[in-house]
Amino acid sequence: MEIKREPIDPAGGGPHIDGDALRVRRLNSRQLLRGAEVEGPNAAAHLEGTDFERYVEERVLTTTLEKATAWARSNSFFPATFGLACCAIEMMSIVAARVDVARFGFEAFRASPRQADLLILSGRVSIKMAPVVRRIYDQMLEPKWAISMGACCSSMGVFNNYALVPSDKFMPIDVHVPGCPPRPEALMHGVLKLRKMVQDDPEMGWRERYEAIGTEEVLPGA
Ligand code: SF4
Repeated sequence: MEIKREPIDPAGGGPHIDGDALRVRRLNSRQLLRGAEVEGPNAAAHLEGTDFERYVEERVLTTTLEKATAWARSNSFFPATFGLACCAIEMMSIVAARVDVARFGFEAFRASPRQADLLILSGRVSIKMAPVVRRIYDQMLEPKWAISMGACCSSMGVFNNYALVPSDKFMPIDVHVPGCPPRPEALMHGVLKLRKMVQDDPEMGWRERYEAIGTEEVLPGA
């Protein structure tokens, strides 16, 4: 840093410098570096050189809008209030104190698919039920995600017969959680896997992923 010494007495030929203002400015700078609030609309203007760089590094974070959106989405899934079979009991328990999904911001289960962006298929899906599940999924917000929970939902499990259908056959699934039933911790692991997926890839709309453009429930302009 370059230091230039000048007399503060105008009578001595130097510029007029208000000594009090100088002291206040120095104190403000010290407070800023300690993280204290300083009054004034442009507090950082008190700093210069490396002090200013340090101030900015400590307080400013740069990112892209897509990454910020993906980060926000991945930390605030709104799961649909929807259960299919025995696995649903394990799903319900993730909001209880032991697993406490609220720690991650996913506890706001929505009673309407219009307000949900995550569908947890918790149990077996019969052929009769599949169109209903698909309708609920279609009514959900975009972008949206789905977790297949339990052996029945992913591979028909112990009920491997003509009445059941694996979820991949009628809708896109993002994460499969194995088990019969999976423990709440396993479901939580699946939700966190999904969170990672959404954070890593901001372009997470399933239509793009599965090249399903044109299959929207309501076409634009219709
Ligand atoms: S995977 Fe097991 S616990 Fe889950 S719905 Fe099927 S039979 Fe029930």
